[in-house]
Amino acid sequence: MSVKRYDAVVVGGGGAGLRTAIEIARDPHIRVAVVSKVYPTRSHTGAAQGGMNAALGNVIPDDNPEAHAFDTIKGSDFLADQDAVFFMTEKAPEIIYELDRWGVPFSRLEDGRIAQRPFGGASFPRTVFAADKTGHVLLHTLFEQALSKDNIDFYNEFFLLDLIHDGERVKGVSIYDIKNGEVLVLQAKAVVLATGGFARIYWFRSTNAIGNTGDGQAVALRSGVPLKDVEFIQFHPTGLAKTGILLSEACRGEGGYLVNKLGERFMKRYAPEKMELAPRDMVSRAIEYEIREGRGVGEGARAYVYLDLRHLGEERIKERLPQVRQLAIDFEGVDPVKDLVPIRPTAHYCMGGIHVVDYRTSETPLKGLYAVGECACVSVHGANRLGGNSLTELIVFGKFAGIAVREFVKEVDYLELTEGEVNKGREFIEDLMKREGEENLAHVRAQMGEITWAKMGIFRDEESLRSAYEELSELLERWERIPVVDKSKVFNTNLIELLELRNMLELARAVALCALNRRESRGGHSREDYPERDDENFLKHSLVYYENGELKLDYIPVRITKYQPTERKY
Ligand SMILES: Cc1cc2nc3c(=O)[nH]c(=O)nc-3n(C[C@H](O)[C@H](O)[C@H](O)COP(=O)(O)OP(=O)(O)OC[C@H]3O[C@@H](n4cnc5c(N)ncnc54)[C@H](O)[C@@H]3O)c2cc1C
Repeated sequence: MSVKRYDAVVVGGGGAGLRTAIEIARDPHIRVAVVSKVYPTRSHTGAAQGGMNAALGNVIPDDNPEAHAFDTIKGSDFLADQDAVFFMTEKAPEIIYELDRWGVPFSRLEDGRIAQRPFGGASFPRTVFAADKTGHVLLHTLFEQALSKDNIDFYNEFFLLDLIHDGERVKGVSIYDIKNGEVLVLQAKAVVLATGGFARIYWFRSTNAIGNTGDGQAVALRSGVPLKDVEFIQFHPTGLAKTGILLSEACRGEGGYLVNKLGERFMKRYAPEKMELAPRDMVSRAIEYEIREGRGVGEGARAYVYLDLRHLGEERIKERLPQVRQLAIDFEGVDPVKDLVPIRPTAHYCMGGIHVVDYRTSETPLKGLYAVGECACVSVHGANRLGGNSLTELIVFGKFAGIAVREFVKEVDYLELTEGEVNKGREFIEDLMKREGEENLAHVRAQMGEITWAKMGIFRDEESLRSAYEELSELLERWERIPVVDKSKVFNTNLIELLELRNMLELARAVALCALNRRESRGGHSREDYPERDDENFLKHSLVYYENGELKLDYIPVRITKYQPTERKY
């Protein structure tokens, strides 16, 4: 059994993981491992299109970090921790200039300064971008920076199985080599989870990469670390109608309209001031209301409304939205230069995640364990994230988590591993490979997708959530009887999908439970039986965790330092 030692292991090779690893590795004496189940440049960060927010004030000089903070807090429906939000918005400009120096090719204004575009819920044009491929260029630049460090080793195409810990402090991780079926243990003083989001639990309709299955969150949950605010899922308004593939918010930022089948810009009914640039939760609900009232095209799951970009003109579409145009042509068969584009909301982002207890360091309740990026909940997004704030979060909190880990590993020693801890991952895989049963992976996964979409989607209520919880619990039992049909050791995607399915089912069930117990509507969580926000009872974060094999709930206060909650109007 192979055991290797690193001061720090970062699980995740997306924007969050790479930014954190680069910062830890600034001290050449510290050895870092980056583990990623896909080659790092295939991480979902590379799919981000529209851009990232920082109050540079390049287009309108009045913009400032405080305005960015206020927009973020209002956008969060007042559930974000305000001190953490201020931390992010104050650091955002300097991290953009750092990325600029590292080589991220941001789009420019005529005078050479970094360009900024309007985005939903923002009071100034604040989103910096590289056409509509911001995540792609960001990820590649970070990967180049990480590759240039001699003290970072990459474990590409390795799958995180488990955290090794003694209940108080983390000792390392066990990982599975997808290329040859071997299990390895990486002993570490600190582990950073940066495994991305889990919006793939909405298997039926999601913008997320197939691999966004929340493995890090599920591993943390099983290790006794709470997840925070997982009931808050973001549905993005403009998914292509047939596939749910994302068309960036940049479409509306650049001036696109949303119209119903009567050709009406219906957002005037829901957000008369901000119109299409209201926050995502509101725009998604508006589209669904239009469809319910019969003003969409078609009915049921296949109905849609239109995104209209035609008035922007061919030149602007080709310059600013080239990827959007190509996606519409390839996956919907329409050209936005001359056609209306059929769209419908689609599952996009997880506001909740692994409970971070200190935003300055990204520590979790388990000593030596840190969480960064979409898998973490700091919380800066509260009940609804503003577009462009996720990439900013990865880079700001990644940097400061890196600094904290660098200091931590200098102060502590390795903890001894027991033989049982070293062998556990290998034995688990051996048992799984031998498992027999009559269930079918694809069927169980499809059922999960139907339950999550229909019963815990954009609209929820007591009955739908209760039955989602029960049915997902049954699917978890059925998971125990799904055999691994492919017995090979080389690139066994059957085994990987089975591991991912368990993670998704556990997370989906946790979402259902938190959503069931939050009897109010706030941000992305919309209860038809409790349509109002209820600050008296629910201005608090939910925590969900395992105790003796059962999911339990707890609540902690929101940190309100400056802005008292008010009604959210746009
Ligand atoms: C289509 C799309 C467009 C978006 N556009 C924008 C935008 O314009 N602006 C914005 O701010 N946000 C945007 N977002 C959101 C943002 O891109 C993501 O929240 C962010 O990139 C997540 O980064 P991350 O580093 O946390 O995770 P990811 O980039 O998802 O990376 C996760 C990493 O974890 C690894 N991993 C996961 N599980 C395991 C495991 N079991 N073992 C080993 N490794 C594992 C993966 O291999 C991967 O390297 C968009 C999201 C999508 C889906």
